[in-house]
Amino acid sequence: MNGCGERDRRGAAFDPGCRACPRLAAHLDAVRARYPHYHCGPVPAFGDPEARLLIVGLAPGEHGANATGRPFTGDYAGRLLYSTLHAFGFANGPVSSAADDGLQLTDCRITNAVKCLPPGNKPTGAEVRECNGFLQAEIATRPPRVLLALGRVAHDATLRALGLRQRDCVFGHAAVHQPEGLPVVIDSYHCSRYNTQTRRLTEEMFHDVFRLAQAQL
Ligand code: URA
Repeated sequence: MNGCGERDRRGAAFDPGCRACPRLAAHLDAVRARYPHYHCGPVPAFGDPEARLLIVGLAPGEHGANATGRPFTGDYAGRLLYSTLHAFGFANGPVSSAADDGLQLTDCRITNAVKCLPPGNKPTGAEVRECNGFLQAEIATRPPRVLLALGRVAHDATLRALGLRQRDCVFGHAAVHQPEGLPVVIDSYHCSRYNTQTRRLTEEMFHDVFRLAQAQL
């Protein structure tokens, strides 16, 4: 079942009607039946179209981005992300609560490696690959100077979108990759609830990553 149509999808950075992944489309249908007021569709990128910094997350959370329709909004993971964006001057407020809350990003945009809510927060490799054309198009249409990948899935998807081999840029927290002729890629541990509550990722560590990113802009 593919509501997008090959012709329409080619080269597009986003398709709000995409149903290319049968498992994800079925999951969204099931979640929509339980929560009819939720967004329950592909979640578009959010932020400044001319941004030099593009942040790549994993995928919408069920009661966060999948509900609100904005990346990391209503998600626990968004708390540290948006407060950090505000601290570094990329956002006009520290909290992202709803798609119509008036929050604006400057010189920064946020997207996800997978645009639809995956069951258990875990997209399959095939789903990440299927969605990668959108990320590729997003990067090609408005090339950022820095790509900040949140977590390994985002890192792998970002390399794929840039046409790089995984072995050329090994994922590591605060690693800075400078592939010739391409945007700089910076990695961070994902700002998930698990990572922040276990202190695998602290606010200080996350701010250090943003300092690295800012130095590359
Ligand atoms: N919400 C998102 O939009 N992306 C993530 O990676 C996590 C939560």
